[in-house]
Amino acid sequence: MGIAKIIDGKKIAADFCQNLAEEIQKNHISPKLAVILVGDDPASLIYVKNKQKKAQEVGVVVETYHLSGMSSERMILELIDELNKRTDVHGILLQLPVPIHLNPQTLIERIHPDKDVDGLHPVNVGRMMSKIPTLIPCTPMGCLYLIKQIPVPLVGRRAVVVGRSALVGRPLAYLLLQEDCTVTQAHSKTVHLDKVCSQADILVTAVGVPHLIGANAVKKGAVVIDVGINRLDNGEITGDVDFKAVQNIASYMTPVPGGVGPMTVAMLLFNTFKAAQNQIKKGLNIMPYKS
Ligand code: NDP
Repeated sequence: MGIAKIIDGKKIAADFCQNLAEEIQKNHISPKLAVILVGDDPASLIYVKNKQKKAQEVGVVVETYHLSGMSSERMILELIDELNKRTDVHGILLQLPVPIHLNPQTLIERIHPDKDVDGLHPVNVGRMMSKIPTLIPCTPMGCLYLIKQIPVPLVGRRAVVVGRSALVGRPLAYLLLQEDCTVTQAHSKTVHLDKVCSQADILVTAVGVPHLIGANAVKKGAVVIDVGINRLDNGEITGDVDFKAVQNIASYMTPVPGGVGPMTVAMLLFNTFKAAQNQIKKGLNIMPYKS
């Protein structure tokens, strides 16, 4: 096996966003996303900025509510209530993580399911599990989109997802199951992680531990999708996969940065568009397209 082909998330996301921009224009709508950012987590500040920039390119309007890290739960719930009511706001995103004194679940559950563009509200999670069309979490959807760019059928393939968070690991395992993969979900208590991972035709890691996945954990010819974003002491950003060690074994790999990250943002904008379309269809909002 030679060197793995790189799945260029940046390019794939750029193409996706270009099509999305055309779709938004064609539909004559002006999707609006409200982003709630509580506190000054440096990584979150960068993510929100990236989302704003990309949204502008695509034709999604972003309104950012940057609240103090000391904000009370009541205050944030009131803001969510107000955004739920506004007919010009189609999507509401609570940037995670929130400061420790806040319970993210309470806040997420307050977002109207139709505006929950992160797909984390229990109603949307339930709909997804019941195969009812709904808003699906952005990162898992982005991962699946990247995997589907590879000219290899998914049916019957063995997939291992490392990580079981509500944001990434769990929904992704479910999406792969829907694609008829045979799915194993690994986590921090998994025994012999390397051995489990080395069974995978498709290996996805969403952990947050640099270089957790080395050569021993990868089957020859596997597709490796690295969701992890880790900042090393020297400032370098890396994923969960030891890229150099694995690139001679895998057939396809995503880089970090430039892999799953850009696709996550693209899917957030797609969900905002979908939410806007849905709300307009339901007669909740008729916004003329503004050029
Ligand atoms: P969480 O911390 O919520 O979940 C991490 C998961 O990894 C948990 O299920 C945990 O297991 C598991 N885990 C932790 N340590 C190990 C280990 N040593 N071996 C096996 N499993 C382990 O993180 P998220 O899911 O939110 O994010 C995961 C990573 O993905 C992070 O690096 C994050 O920055 C990145 N990320 C990237 C995005 C992108 O767009 N590229 C978007 C979202 C996240 P357990 O459940 O047992 O605790």
